[in-house]
Amino acid sequence: MHKLFNMTRLLKYTILSFLILSFGNIFSQNIIDTIPYKEFEIILLDNQTWCYVNNDSVLELIHKRDSIKHYNYILSEKTYLPDSLVLFVDEWDSIPQLYGYGGLNYALVQDTFAIPLDTNDFTLPFDGKVISEFGWRWGRMHHALDIQLQLGEPVKAAFSGKVRRAFYNTGGYGNLVIIRHKNGIETYYAHLSKLLVSEGQWVESGEAIGLGGSTGYSFAPHLHWEVRFKDNSFNPRIFVDYENGKLKSDTLILVPELFYHIKELSQTQYYTVKQGDSLWGISRRFGISISAICSLNNITENTVLKIGQTLRVR
Ligand SMILES: [Zn+2]
Repeated sequence: MHKLFNMTRLLKYTILSFLILSFGNIFSQNIIDTIPYKEFEIILLDNQTWCYVNNDSVLELIHKRDSIKHYNYILSEKTYLPDSLVLFVDEWDSIPQLYGYGGLNYALVQDTFAIPLDTNDFTLPFDGKVISEFGWRWGRMHHALDIQLQLGEPVKAAFSGKVRRAFYNTGGYGNLVIIRHKNGIETYYAHLSKLLVSEGQWVESGEAIGLGGSTGYSFAPHLHWEVRFKDNSFNPRIFVDYENGKLKSDTLILVPELFYHIKELSQTQYYTVKQGDSLWGISRRFGISISAICSLNNITENTVLKIGQTLRVR
């Protein structure tokens, strides 16, 4: 009887060890975040996969952010998000403002969002060379990809959606089209020479929405293409393989790290150069070193400052 118990126990541990070892390698991923969904929670893992969990004791462990290794075997049944799942269920009506959610706001993007993308519903806005990337540029944030085109060439809607704005913007965008998509993303198409759509109109992916141009703050014809989530810009290259003209994945996972520039922007400060100003004086005034001003603004210590020039000082 005693021997039998040992045998049973041995067998039990052998099976358990086998389970842990066999799944350990596949699922020893870190948890990025959790998203409530119906009776489940979607657990996002750092290898860009996810799984559903509805076991309370497991969820409790996950919420404590313990190592996922302890419950590998429970997570082994990986499932995919159904196509119909739209986590984003916000206002769909047209909003007249340039930014529909009140402008840049890091507080809106501090959580993780999973956005299902339809790979059959995507077209490059313009199949051309990317001439300027998303990111900091001469001390200013460039919220878009700039794509080279010829005057008058058609610019297309990236995804199907509803035209929220189609107008001339005096702030630098020039002729601008903003499309709100069902996946919760908004796309901005700037510097157009001509608008081909009107506000409230439904457009399909690939439909021409305007002609390429150089209106607004632009020196040569190009498309300034922005992608925004709740007004907050993020790099389109996160989900678009621009050179091959396709989406990288059927799910876009937006993590707070993608929006750190928004946080930085809220701390950014500019100064307009006045008569008699010197780099030394500005440096003293804002408590920032001359070399830091130079690197923020892509200038050197010998650059001659012009009156009216804007310098980033923080
Ligand atoms: Zn641009």
